[in-house]
Amino acid sequence: MTRPPGRLVLLGHPVAHSLSPRFQNAALAAARIPLRYDALDVEPHDFEDVVRALTAERAAGNLTIPFKERMHDACDALTPLATRVGAVNTFWVDDTGRLVGDNTDVGGFTAAVSAVCGEPPRDITVGVYGAGGAAAAVLAAVEQWPGCTAHVFNRTPERARLLCERFGDFAQPVDDVAVILGADLIVNATSVGLHGNDMPLPLDLIPKGRAVLDLVYRRGETAWIRGLRARGFRAADGITMLVEQGALAFERWFGIAPDRAVMWNALEEPLTLS
Ligand code: NAP
Repeated sequence: MTRPPGRLVLLGHPVAHSLSPRFQNAALAAARIPLRYDALDVEPHDFEDVVRALTAERAAGNLTIPFKERMHDACDALTPLATRVGAVNTFWVDDTGRLVGDNTDVGGFTAAVSAVCGEPPRDITVGVYGAGGAAAAVLAAVEQWPGCTAHVFNRTPERARLLCERFGDFAQPVDDVAVILGADLIVNATSVGLHGNDMPLPLDLIPKGRAVLDLVYRRGETAWIRGLRARGFRAADGITMLVEQGALAFERWFGIAPDRAVMWNALEEPLTLS
């Protein structure tokens, strides 16, 4: 991008719980960029109208549930990754006035896996639980990793089959959860654990030695990841992916990398009601 955006927004429904404004506003202040990043709760029936108005304002920003797939359809141009995933989590308006969509969840996921495994992923098997939009970003990432394959298990098996069909042979749907438990890296890409202390997969079933990544994030970790870490597993929740997708989005909007330490520090600060 050459011209900076006129405004920065996160579109979701609901969106009040999002941590993105905290770390994006801290990064903007640290970079001395005079913009605020605002979370907008958009009624689903208003979505296309809101997007048209934001395009006219040369806005940029992010999408969260339930708008990533709808933004994919609303954009004038898509990056290859956004096309591959079928969803947009980052957008901006280019110098010709076109609404451009990208997907930085993919890079965010790879960064999170590198952090939990201690090195960039290669020659590993990945067990994916879930077959929604987040699982699509996971497969688009695994596709880029040298020598890696994925198995996908989902509550609704047909969705796992359709998802894998969109990708190559490296991704296979399975109807037995034991197959994903046999992978080197186990990923929870369902929304189980978002509320309460529900466990996506029972702790006792995870074999020793596995690396585990939960895409769900909560302040103070998900109960699942707390339980796994207490048992000595290399395990992390979705907070690293969240910060990394946000950092990559910041790079798309401004052409410079944000200060990631500032972003992480902003998440350490106590929540205040404002
Ligand atoms: P989605 O498209 O709505 O897909 C939801 C998935 O969860 C589906 O596979 C669904 O299975 C499964 N599921 C829901 N409730 C379930 C239950 N009770 N038991 C078993 N499976 C269940 O959502 P998404 O966009 O993929 O997001 C999934 C999660 O990833 C969300 O919690 C989201 O916050 C998180 N996420 C995190 C980041 C990050 O930066 N950390 C980025 C993206 C997403 P069915 O197909 O059978 O309904």
